[in-house]
Amino acid sequence: MARKPIIAGNWKMNNNKAAAKELIDGIMYGISKLDKENMPEVIVAPTYTALWQVWDLIKNEPKISLAAQNVNPNPSGAYTGEISLEMLEDFNVKYVIIGHSERRQMFFESDEFINQKAIAILKKGLIPIICCGETLEQREQGVTDKHLENQITKAFKGITTSDAEKCVIAYEPIWAIGTGKSCDAIEANRTIGEIRKVIAKLYSQDTADKIRILYGGSVKPSTIVEQMAQSEIDGGLIGGASLKADSFVELIKGAM
Ligand code: PEP
Repeated sequence: MARKPIIAGNWKMNNNKAAAKELIDGIMYGISKLDKENMPEVIVAPTYTALWQVWDLIKNEPKISLAAQNVNPNPSGAYTGEISLEMLEDFNVKYVIIGHSERRQMFFESDEFINQKAIAILKKGLIPIICCGETLEQREQGVTDKHLENQITKAFKGITTSDAEKCVIAYEPIWAIGTGKSCDAIEANRTIGEIRKVIAKLYSQDTADKIRILYGGSVKPSTIVEQMAQSEIDGGLIGGASLKADSFVELIKGAM
C-alpha cells in the first residue's frame, strides 16, 4: 500500500491566541477549496497554549491532525514546566514531535531521552514524529549516514515492529533548518533512502516500506513539488513556511 503523504507545520514558539486563530482559520479556508480525496494528511503543531483553541477549530475537519511540539515521558510528578502525555490526550493530540534539533542543541536532549519519549508516546497510543539530522560539519566530514544510523538506532531501541510501523521520521539536516537553504531534493531522497535501510536492518524491509519519512529544512512552496516527486520523501515537516496560511496551503497543494 502506498504511504500516505504528510504536510506538517511546526509553529515553534510563535502565535499567541489571536494569531493562532487567524492562522488556523486561514488554513481551514484554504483547504475548503481543495479536493479532500487527494489531500495529504495535514498536521499542525501549535504551542501548548494554543492547542485547545486550535483543536476546537479543526475538530470537524478529519484531514487535519494536531501535534504537540514536545512532551515529557514521565506520567506525572515534580517536573516543573513540563507537560505529560495524559495532558496532551486532553487536547486530542495525535502526534508528538520529538528529537527536533532545536531541542537536542538548545535543551541538551539526548538520544536516550528521545527514545524514552518515543516509547511513552507509543504506549499512550499517540504517534511520535522522530526528527534526525546532521550538522554541516558532519556532512562535510562525510559522516552523515553513520550519524543518522546512530540517531535512528537509538531512537527505536526497544520499540516493537508493530509500533515502529506507526512512527513518522523527519529527516532534517540542521544546516537547512531556518536558513532558507533547502537540501537538494535528490540528495534528500538519497539520505532518506539510507534511513529506510537502517529501519530495514533494525526490523524488516516490510516495516521500512511502511514507515513515513518526511524531509524538513527550509521547505517552501517553490521547493515542495520537486521534493514530493522523490520516491523516498513522504512529505514535509515545515517551520517558517507553515506560519502563513497562504504558503502552508500552497505546500499542501504541492503534495497533491
Ligand atoms: C523545522 O523547524 O522543523 C523546520 C524544518 O524549519 P524551517 O522549515 O523553517 O527550516
